[in-house]
Amino acid sequence: MTLPTTHVSFPAGAVTGESTVLAVHPLDGGRYAVVTGATPFHPLDHTWPDQPADLGTLTVDGVELAVVDCLTGAVGPDGGPEGGQVLVGADIPVRRGDEEWSWLVLHVLAADPGDIVGRTAALAVDAGRRGALSASHSGCHLLALALNEALAPRWRKDPGRTDAFGHPDFDSLAMASSVMDTEASTDTYRLGKSLRKKGFTAEATEEFPALADALPELTEAVNRRLAGWVAADAQVRVDVPGPELTARREWHCELPEGAARIFCGGTHLHHLGELAELRTELRLSEDGSELVAVTRPKRA
Ligand SMILES: [Zn+2]
Repeated sequence: MTLPTTHVSFPAGAVTGESTVLAVHPLDGGRYAVVTGATPFHPLDHTWPDQPADLGTLTVDGVELAVVDCLTGAVGPDGGPEGGQVLVGADIPVRRGDEEWSWLVLHVLAADPGDIVGRTAALAVDAGRRGALSASHSGCHLLALALNEALAPRWRKDPGRTDAFGHPDFDSLAMASSVMDTEASTDTYRLGKSLRKKGFTAEATEEFPALADALPELTEAVNRRLAGWVAADAQVRVDVPGPELTARREWHCELPEGAARIFCGGTHLHHLGELAELRTELRLSEDGSELVAVTRPKRA
């Protein structure tokens, strides 16, 4: 069975929509995945699972069905080893966006919805949860820029990758994992040998103290910058080259220092004035090998 790649409206901030049910696919554990032609639901990405799935409801013929999870599915080319089969999440053997594959948003139901293929579904995302995840995700990108700036003096040489403001891109060079929830974004950075080889200095020098001793000052500098950006009520949007789930989208924020861009598959605020406050907390592991930033948005 050939299914087209799902069209998605979440990048623009949509939380409702209507679309035809194209397929219902049984999953492990007695659950079912509903595939529609288009959807406002943001699924967990199988390649970079930073933003959790949207939850909500799917209503068909007046019957409301709870969407208890939302996953990424993929169907390989006909004639391939897995051709025609819907694979889910970690079982997908190729990276997101492989053009030979169809990429699907799977709305997960706890029970069999019956024969609903061909019917129209009204899709509604839990808007409160979405709003909280968007705030955490926007906070995550802002933290990246503010942290890059605060750590810029610690690079002995140009690591060959800079962010939108020309600072060495510590965030992407050291990133081990990035996870958002409805409360915060937690970004974990590895301060290993390879980062040091690229020129990063965690030790004390004549110009600055060891990273561990500098943490309170760094945290304050980052939080000052974040507060300034929130106060500037900067506009945020996600640039979308096409409607497909797999389109290469870009987060765009009009900060006072200039336009910032970061490739991103998630959802975001529309402007930073939707926040009352954005603060991060920096922690260094005891052995100094890991820096963790927990960034909490407080919504206005
Ligand atoms: Zn992102």
